Amino acid sequence: MTIHAAGNVAAPNATEIGRLAETQRRFFRTGATRDLDFRRRQLRTLRAMLVSHETDILEALRRDLGRPPAEAYSSEIAVVLIEIDTALRRLAGWARPKRARSPRLLFPASSHVVPEPFGSVLVIGPWNYPLQLVLAPVVAAIAAGNCAVVKPSELAPATSTLLAGMIRKTFDPNILAVVEGGIEPTQALLGQDFDYLFFTGGTKIGKIVMAAAAEHLTPVTLELGGKNPCIVAADTDMKTAARRIAWGKYFNAGQTCISPDFLLVERSAEAAFLGALRAALTEFYGADPAKSADYARIVNERHFDRLASFLDRGRVVAGGEIDRAQRYFAPTVIADIGWDDPVMADEIFGPVLPVVVYDDLDAEIARLQERPKPLALYIFTADGNRADKVLHGVSSGGASVNDIFAQLLNLELPFGGVGDSGMGAYHGKAGFDTFSHRRAIVRRGTWLDLKLKYPPYKTSLAVFKKLLPRIM
Ligand code: NAD
Repeated sequence: MTIHAAGNVAAPNATEIGRLAETQRRFFRTGATRDLDFRRRQLRTLRAMLVSHETDILEALRRDLGRPPAEAYSSEIAVVLIEIDTALRRLAGWARPKRARSPRLLFPASSHVVPEPFGSVLVIGPWNYPLQLVLAPVVAAIAAGNCAVVKPSELAPATSTLLAGMIRKTFDPNILAVVEGGIEPTQALLGQDFDYLFFTGGTKIGKIVMAAAAEHLTPVTLELGGKNPCIVAADTDMKTAARRIAWGKYFNAGQTCISPDFLLVERSAEAAFLGALRAALTEFYGADPAKSADYARIVNERHFDRLASFLDRGRVVAGGEIDRAQRYFAPTVIADIGWDDPVMADEIFGPVLPVVVYDDLDAEIARLQERPKPLALYIFTADGNRADKVLHGVSSGGASVNDIFAQLLNLELPFGGVGDSGMGAYHGKAGFDTFSHRRAIVRRGTWLDLKLKYPPYKTSLAVFKKLLPRIM
């Protein structure tokens, strides 16, 4: 590989990528990663790497996404540190073989489910949380005893370069390696025979990744996106709902896979809720959010222009101001939106919040059932039965009642999508399980060997039929 500058390496070609994957697989076969202390050492090293580069990380995220330090620290650094600390604390328990019952047929025997690492895994990340969404899967992969190659997003170049530099300086590439770049190196990586593939990104590219994985029968986790509905019923505490929704929608300027994509507001509550939402926005970002130090920017011009096109329809009731040169897009709320408006077609992934009013919740549930399953679903109501009705009626990767992001902020819960929003999950133990093969192992004694199971079969079929359920 050609090293250009500290931490900045030219995208390797397919041959170099093949060599990297092969040497990592060879290292895995030495069995070094099976030792739990070895894994703990890598996790502690990763922890120290993050802590010592905190300022650089915050600066890179500021350059890529104008990220406010509080948002950047909590969502990129703290989340990974918590994942590391949880893994360090609980690794022994997660990795312990779990005893299973042994049937009489096998007596004498002991049976266990043994979590085993897959080998060398590939982690591909998106640009919106460019550090966390690469390193949180890496924590789980390493805790489970795998080696990893990571491919950060080229659309967050400052973070990608920093990440590559830090990892290269800190880790033996046999354990953790980085490949930077866009489509070409990613496709070269996808051509390799990795043992597991963990992809976070859009549904369209998720399909490309899964097709590539099929070539090698590589198991995949796909963490994808979707249009996350957020329902606001008239019995909701409007002020709290508005604050929570505004925070979740405009955190990272709406460039969050689980942010509320659109609102479904009960007609009788529309005016009160929009008033509360405007008040929350002023409280958070002041009269002019462009001047707020706590509001992020849009990642690039392409996404900026895509978002700006949504301003043509409906009635802008908050925000709407944009500055392409600064990639500034005000926190925007658009009312008078119908299900057929263009903004309701695809994932918005930005600070535009369309508001659709409803009269009949059952009809909205039926409509949502017709759509692809989202990554997140939110319902604000004081009525637990109403919340249950929505939760039962509409499937989603995760859901929160009366809050936004709560299903993610509890790192004890598995985080992942369903249907078009993905497959598989991670965080905490769910991450360890994702990167572990559950291997079934039976150890038998030899002092008893029932003749019954061997040919020639002397037992009548009638006796067999009675016996089998008793001994299996
Ligand atoms: P993306 O799918 O465009 O890119 C993701 C990764 O795939 C990048 O590393 C990119 O280099 C690579 N890639 C792009 N085109 C490729 C191709 N043709 N072949 C192979 N690799 C290719 O996604 P993005 O724009 O970076 O991220 C935004 C999307 O990610 C949104 O849909 C969002 O909802 C989703 N997302 C999901 C989660 C989650 O946890 N479920 C988290 C963050 C973002």
